[in-house]
Amino acid sequence: MADAAVACKQCGGTYLGSELADGDNEEERDCPKCHKAILFLVFESVDELAGHPDALSPSEREDFAERTDFVDRWTAGLLKSPKQLPDVKAKKFTLFWDADHDTQGIINRTRARVIWR
Ligand SMILES: [Zn+2]
Repeated sequence: MADAAVACKQCGGTYLGSELADGDNEEERDCPKCHKAILFLVFESVDELAGHPDALSPSEREDFAERTDFVDRWTAGLLKSPKQLPDVKAKKFTLFWDADHDTQGIINRTRARVIWR
């Protein structure tokens, strides 16, 4: 994008993507001279990419597959109901929030036992 030329219909100037000014939001780039919005960035959604694997290069397809696997595993491991948690009999306890250094997963535990992983 930084090397692409974009023409402004309002002032007639032609600018490189890197010369455009920030717009009113993250997706908009404005003419650096007259500040008219002249470029809108489009980001494909994950669903759109999943429906068009042919649009991806082999390495992008591999990255996308890894990301999809991660999201599937992450979604399957979500805490969705208190019924998934064990009963804690103590009247009062401290809940710790740790990271498992091997799996990068989050562990919620008391001093004595793991409550959720
Ligand atoms: Zn302009």
